[in-house]
This record gives sequence, C-alpha cells and structure tokens, in this order.
Amino acid sequence: TIALQDIRKSFAGTEVLHGISVEIAPGQVTALIGPSGSGKSTLLRCVNLLEIPDSGTLTLGDERLSFTPGVRPAQDAIQRIRLQTGMVFQNFQLFAHQSALQNVMEGLVTVKRWPRERARARALQLLDKVGLHDKADAWPNNLSGGQQQRVAIARALALEPAVLLCDEPTSALDPGLAAEVVSVLGDLAREGMTMLMATHDLRLAAQIASHTVFMQDGNVVEAGGARTIFENAQDARTRDFVRTLT
Ligand code: ATP
Ligand code: MG
Repeated sequence: TIALQDIRKSFAGTEVLHGISVEIAPGQVTALIGPSGSGKSTLLRCVNLLEIPDSGTLTLGDERLSFTPGVRPAQDAIQRIRLQTGMVFQNFQLFAHQSALQNVMEGLVTVKRWPRERARARALQLLDKVGLHDKADAWPNNLSGGQQQRVAIARALALEPAVLLCDEPTSALDPGLAAEVVSVLGDLAREGMTMLMATHDLRLAAQIASHTVFMQDGNVVEAGGARTIFENAQDARTRDFVRTLT
C-alpha cells in the first residue's frame, strides 16, 4: 500500500499542497489529474522525496515516514523510501552520455552492486519488455522521444520499485509516439504494477487508470474509480475539468 496522509508542502512561505491524503492499493493504477499549477508534480516529488514534505505521513510498503516542519529526515530513511519508487519524467531525463542499456543498468550496478554481467542481462530483459531489445546500444540522442521514454520506463523498473511514478509521461510526445508509451504502461498495469501518474492525456487516464484523483489549488477535490470520475463526477469542478481533457 502507498498512503499519503495530510501531506503539506510550502515553497518560500506559500503552501502549495494543503494537506493531501491519497491511498493506493497494490496493483492499483491511479491517474492524477488537475489544472496546471494544482500541485500534481509537487505531490509526485513528495512521494519519492525529491521534495521533502513539511508535514504529514508517507507510507510505502513497509516504510513509513512522518514529517516535521524544518526537520529533514535521516538520509537513510529518505533512501529507503526512494528505493521503493521509480520515476518517469515528462522529458525522459536519460543520461545522455550513456547508451540505452547503460541507462537501465546504472541503478543495478551502483545501487544494488550487481556484477555488470548480471545487470546487463537484467537490463536487456527490461529493454525487451518495452520493445527496445534492438536499441540496447543506441544513444538517447539517436532515439525517438517515444523510444527514449520507454528506456526511461525500463530504467525506472530496474530496481523493482513498489510504485511507478509518472509525471506527464506522454505530453512531450507526438500522438503516435505517445501511443507506444501508453501501450507499454498499459502492459505494466495489466501485470499488476502499482502506478501513480500525473497526466493531461485522456487516453492514458481513461484507458489505463482504475482510479483517479482530481486536484485543484493544492487540494484533492474528488477521488474515486476512474469511470466514476470521467462519467459521473460528483463535484462540478471535476466535471468542468474532465471536459477539458483531450
Ligand atoms: P502542471 O500541470 O503545469 O505540470 P502541476 O499540477 O504539476 O502543474 P506543480 O508543478 O506541482 O503543478 O506546481 C504547484 C504550485 O507549486 C505552482 O504554483 C508552482 O508554481 C509551485 N511550485 C512548484 N515547484 C516549486 C518550486 N520549486 N519553487 C517554488 N514554487 C514551486
Ligand atoms: Mg506538473
């Protein structure tokens, strides 16, 4: 289970997350939707502790961490949470000076201390899973955006995270390339990967997500089954927003 309880986050005295509570059961895929600036990316970054929440409690599997304003948690506690998460970014963020294979191997070698041959074999399996076995030796610059994002997904999966966090994984891609990424994420969803993904992509949200959380102005306005949110939202703000998705 992933649980956020009453998570708050301010930047320079301005609170942008006003006490967010979200729970995600194992194998559940949750789409995080909401207008620009509503706090989706900040919330994802609070789950993998790229941002440290000011207060609230974060539970990821067996790890639980509570936050106190002005107190940075111990680095090993941060690291334990981070290792439970994989993150996929809008702009891929591959290591440009490494091949696709090296990008996927990196964590296995540096974090898990696997021997290179074992890491290489595992990385090739993961590239195969995202349909890129034949691109193992390609450099990120020579891959299409959709291919780069699939490498990024393989890399995020390498350490077997408890949750895959995706921040607008298709929004930098042309529709055809976005479809490749949606297809890979759909496969993962069917295999039972737990996911939390911020997206404006209706196809991604509606086809893959079982659950949806709608945020506005740093609050969760409405959360529930994806079908309910898309077809029968209770809150007028949710209904208005869902109409804007394409
Ligand atoms: P989008 O759909 O445009 O990606 P979002 O829902 O992801 O938007 P966030 O990026 O989380 O929104 O931003 C939420 C609020 O927090 C915004 O007002 C933003 O300006 C502010 N914010 C985010 N990161 C920082 C930061 N590092 N420093 C200061 N303010 C920030
Ligand atoms: Mg964002």
